[in-house]
Amino acid sequence: MRELEIPSPSLVLIWGCEGSGAGAFAERLFGARALRARTFRRAVSGEADAPRWAGPFAASVLATVAERRARGASGLPLAVEFEPWEGHDPTAFSTIARRAGLPCRVLALSVPARRCRARRPDLSVEETSAQRKRFDQALGELRKRKGVSVEVLAHPDQITGWRGRPLACDRRDERGPFDLIGDVHGCYEELVLLLGQLGYTRDDAGGYQHPEGRRLVFLGDFTDRGPRNLDALRLVMRAVAGGALAVRGNHDDKLRRYLAGRKVSISHGLQVTVDELEALPEGEALPFRTAVEDFLADLPSHLVLDGGDLVAVHGGLEERLIGREGGRVDSFALYGDPSGKLDADGYPERRDWAQAYRGPAWIAYGHTPIGHAAWRHRTICIDQGCVFGGALSALRWPERTTLCVPAQSSHSPPRGSFRPLLLAPLAGAPAPDWP
Ligand code: MN
Repeated sequence: MRELEIPSPSLVLIWGCEGSGAGAFAERLFGARALRARTFRRAVSGEADAPRWAGPFAASVLATVAERRARGASGLPLAVEFEPWEGHDPTAFSTIARRAGLPCRVLALSVPARRCRARRPDLSVEETSAQRKRFDQALGELRKRKGVSVEVLAHPDQITGWRGRPLACDRRDERGPFDLIGDVHGCYEELVLLLGQLGYTRDDAGGYQHPEGRRLVFLGDFTDRGPRNLDALRLVMRAVAGGALAVRGNHDDKLRRYLAGRKVSISHGLQVTVDELEALPEGEALPFRTAVEDFLADLPSHLVLDGGDLVAVHGGLEERLIGREGGRVDSFALYGDPSGKLDADGYPERRDWAQAYRGPAWIAYGHTPIGHAAWRHRTICIDQGCVFGGALSALRWPERTTLCVPAQSSHSPPRGSFRPLLLAPLAGAPAPDWP
């Protein structure tokens, strides 16, 4: 007897042949909220015995309802019970989950055909074995899908219930206060200066502590283009080991893939980081590369903090994707909303998602260097392009004020039309709040 741990929110697909007890299992675990194939057959046919001819239409209505519910704001798992009937494709639900940014958990009830027949004597041998074949085939397909985890249950009665496990991005119980740091890109010196200005002191273990218990939140892109990439990375890693938080930037993701031996193009400043890695003394190189790879792989796409009031993310996030994970969430959080075209400077053009944002949570992000950090519809970009000669910026939360350290020198050729702030910024000046 055990309790299942289920990511919340998520889409839970309960997959079992007729007679496997999948429907009763779904109802026992998730009550009337579970979407059941049989209920939909009854509803579309208007007949109590849920006739077979209503199957295909019922399945498509069920998928439509599941899609709408998946987009809804409920923090609970969305449970769908589905049967391996002819023409029923359960992988459609993994697609629905991915589009909505929900992990997909499959609970497959592997009950022998003879036991299904014992419970459903009206089913023929041909029908039960055909169902079993489709059950296994679809399970194979589901296992191949990204973001899908499959658990096969031989005895559903052994499951007593479930408890929710928050997604990695859900850190709402972290109340701060926080200091969020924009794109570092190897600007180690400026980072140390900024932490000092924010009031952090270095402890013996190399971690950074604040006398008022404030916590650092790094918004990603720790390396590339700048002069001291590995030092910046070491500082961030130590800070995180000591209780700081961090999200993954697009450069961090590329570095992770590079370290994992995947083929990546060495561009946009990655070369300088690779050079530093290759210059590491033998004996130090491998453990360090492994530690970095593990560190980057564990970083969440974004963080929901302070009871849901604050979102920390690298590239930005649409309201409907906050607190979700996988697929569209990861790409949006890392890259923002590229249009697929190039801008006048030859960089990927990014749509102005913040202009359309109307959510209640405040979003701090980086990624797109701007001359001046200012609130816009409860969003603020604090990447002031330090590596391009701008400034390294911090956002204080809940104060909602910014603080920045000007670049000590220009480390990378200017980025297209980005013009760094030329005046020395005012320390602690409140960022204007443009509703
Ligand atoms: Mn960046």
